[in-house]
Amino acid sequence: MSAQILDGKGTAEQIRYEIKDEVARFIEETGVQPTLAVVLVGDDPASQVYVRNKENACAKVGVRSLMYRLPKETTSDELCELIEKLDGDESVHGILVQLPLPKGIDEKRILDLIDPRKDVDAFHPENVGLLSQGRPRFLPCTPYGIQRLLARYNIETKGKRVVVIGRSDIVGKPMGLLFLQKGLGGDATVTICHSQTENLPEIVREADIVVAAIGKAEFVTADMIKPGAVVVDVGMNRVQREIVDENGEKKTISKLVGDVDFDAVKEVASWITPVPGGVGPLTVTMLLLNTLNGARRQVAATR
Ligand code: NAP
Repeated sequence: MSAQILDGKGTAEQIRYEIKDEVARFIEETGVQPTLAVVLVGDDPASQVYVRNKENACAKVGVRSLMYRLPKETTSDELCELIEKLDGDESVHGILVQLPLPKGIDEKRILDLIDPRKDVDAFHPENVGLLSQGRPRFLPCTPYGIQRLLARYNIETKGKRVVVIGRSDIVGKPMGLLFLQKGLGGDATVTICHSQTENLPEIVREADIVVAAIGKAEFVTADMIKPGAVVVDVGMNRVQREIVDENGEKKTISKLVGDVDFDAVKEVASWITPVPGGVGPLTVTMLLLNTLNGARRQVAATR
């Protein structure tokens, strides 16, 4: 039997609808509009698209976005100066620096300088520490989105074996920490795999829930999945595929695929996220929620 689809796009739309209401209520009660500052350095085309998506998403739910587009020649000192200005600006509740930064800019120095109370990406060591102690301030957007998606479909994590493939600071590690938290959406038994893991397919086959965050097209194959497992695909990989068009002619197209071999794995899994339309839309949605929550805490602290 074919797996059911975990519809990230639809879930993200529902959550954004709720956020829009909450933002309107917050503005009415406090007179303050939640505000996200987005900093983009250089002219990386993918980053430009991501930033535009974030800007549009903010506008749709009533969050104000302030865009800072800086040339690729910007120095670490100049960028630090901007971050310090935004840290000190009371009307800004969230600061996001689009990654990757151009070579030559000290990424760690920049991210560490963001006021942890405005760190909506949850990259700051203080926020990572709070999360690992089970008392998070901000939850990292992609793992948070995945947790919300599973909750919407009543997928139980308590007591389940979860295998996360990938140990990045952005996805893999915080995903593992979220599943480890006590309470709803947590209480799982977690294994995190990476490029040095031995017997990876064997380990993945033990999982009730698999999260693939590797960055390798269709890496996870059907034989790695336990029948009935839930499969979440974080990967976004652009590949070239040869197809035969309606006139019977061969042509090459560019296609977005995940880290999971969707067509084969869906025949084994019970639930699966598609790519696109799975995890991606939830990541931006959680950014909006983090900005609203940041504004709530900052306003509460001053009244
Ligand atoms: P990353 O920083 O490159 O990390 C990839 C991880 O995969 C690393 O931990 C790496 O292990 C591991 N890995 C690589 N090859 C492996 C292999 N053969 N076997 C087992 N593990 C292997 O990537 P990321 O930032 O976490 O992103 C992962 C993917 O998710 C990318 O496709 C990215 O575009 C996508 N993504 C999507 C969203 C979204 O919103 N949908 C958000 C973020 C990322 P080592 O640590 O040992 O090198």
